[in-house]
Amino acid sequence: MTCRYGAGVPRIAVFFLGGTISMAGHYGGVVAWHGGAELVAAVPRLGDLDVTLDVRDLRRAPSACLTFDDILELAAEAEACDADGVVVVQGTDTLEETSYLLDLVWQLDTPIVLTGAMRNPNLAGADGPANLLAAVLVAASEQFRGLGAVVVLNDEIHAARYVRKTHSTSPAAFASPNAGPIGHLVEGAPVLVAQPPPRLRLARPVPPIEVAVGLVTVTLDDDGALLADLDSRCDGLVLAGFGVGHVPATMAPAIGVLATRIPVVLSSRIGAGPVLSATYGFTGSESDLLARGVIGAGLLDPYKARVLLRVLLAGGADREAIAAAFAQAGGLAAG
Ligand code: ASP
Repeated sequence: MTCRYGAGVPRIAVFFLGGTISMAGHYGGVVAWHGGAELVAAVPRLGDLDVTLDVRDLRRAPSACLTFDDILELAAEAEACDADGVVVVQGTDTLEETSYLLDLVWQLDTPIVLTGAMRNPNLAGADGPANLLAAVLVAASEQFRGLGAVVVLNDEIHAARYVRKTHSTSPAAFASPNAGPIGHLVEGAPVLVAQPPPRLRLARPVPPIEVAVGLVTVTLDDDGALLADLDSRCDGLVLAGFGVGHVPATMAPAIGVLATRIPVVLSSRIGAGPVLSATYGFTGSESDLLARGVIGAGLLDPYKARVLLRVLLAGGADREAIAAAFAQAGGLAAG
């Protein structure tokens, strides 16, 4: 589907994967329904923009059902289509993970912008049309070249590496607790307000991705039973520890043993702020776990740490390469 042709008019490829933005139905709840052409046609002002839209339907699914392979295949197709900008429309449930996966493996300087909606088209104040319009505007903007993947909802622009879904229903669900938005839509124009540091760019692994990475959240009075034999089921593990990266003292020895067998990455379950490396000294503290061979995730939250570890393992990275990648992606290295 095309909005407008013309010399020098940016061509924006829009990939539809489904999600709330595309949902319809009255009895028993909404399901992914509308295709890309219908959704684009329903956006006021989109047809007036000086862009050519190349609309592609890849999936019609809730984002809970998306896979790494889906996103890697999308990345390959999006790179091959040689557009001036790319928009990915999907459900918001996994947007913080898919956007970071794309950020890591996107080989081009072309803007790649993810969006979705918190309210389905049946609801008053549905946010899908505004989000889709904003995403196309950002994808067509020169300011966002070379910045990797960004997420656009609610007139805010977030770097994929920082963005989190922080509310289950609010249209203002997406936020970057460690950085704030890198831009805004102001009177219909994208404005970049903060340039993120250079991103980590990795070779795109070829599907199918067969490495398994577990994510275990540490909880009060945790006896570590979930860790038993984990190395027989997982190629790597992300721990979401307390606060700055702590676990009960009773868990520490088992974690140390696991870290000799598979890469174990330590992140914080808090949702904002880093894991530390040299502040606490008790058994089960961040410094104790690092001494046992665990790798710190810095500012990366557990979900993003799991995405990074899985991409690294799929690419055959060894422990040293994994530690180096987390040191860079974790964002704490002194500049
Ligand atoms: N609630 C989700 C959404 O916002 C459903 C999904 O992720 O597909 O789109």
